[in-house]
Order: sequence, then C-alpha cells, then structure tokens
Amino acid sequence: MGMGWTAITLGEDLAGEISYLCLGCGRCDEVCPVEIPLSSIISKLKARAASRVEEV
Ligand code: SF4
Repeated sequence: MGMGWTAITLGEDLAGEISYLCLGCGRCDEVCPVEIPLSSIISKLKARAASRVEEV
C-alpha cells in the first residue's frame, strides 16, 4: 500500500521511482486482508513512470 499512498501524497514521480523495488511476485495481493490489488497498482505506477521517461 505504501507505493500507492506515496503516489497520492508525495506524487507519482517518487512513487514511480520506488515502484521499481517491486519484483511483481504478487505476494502482497495474497496477504492483503481487504483484497487491495497492490501488485496491479504498482504495475500501473511502473508503466506510467516508464511512459513519462519515454516522453523526455
Ligand atoms: S508484488 Fe508485492 S510482495 Fe511482491 S515484491 Fe512487489 S510489493 Fe513486494
């Protein structure tokens, strides 16, 4: 949840940078008690960060 929260509170640039720490294993989806699709959120943050780099 930290990366999604970071995107909301501190901006997508920072969230995009730290999203690359995620390996995409999906374990957080399995253990989240309220079924937040965290790996999907992080994957989207990665894709959006990559598209911003491509624009530069
Ligand atoms: S998918 Fe979730 S558990 Fe796996 S590395 Fe990324 S944040 Fe961690």
